[in-house]
Amino acid sequence: MSTATLTGSCPECETDLTVPPVVRGETLSCPECMLTLRVEDVQEGQVVLEMIEVQLRDWGQ
Ligand SMILES: [Zn+2]
Repeated sequence: MSTATLTGSCPECETDLTVPPVVRGETLSCPECMLTLRVEDVQEGQVVLEMIEVQLRDWGQ
């Protein structure tokens, strides 16, 4: 029981993404907004993606 591809959507730009089989913890880049996304969960052919905070220097807030 394996699916050729998984689907998910970008949490940032909400683009529907079709991704190759990935496992939790892998990272992908959204082709639309170029954000780096981490696979939080994989279930039922769907991936749950979470954007990774880019570690920029904090200039103070
Ligand atoms: Zn995106």
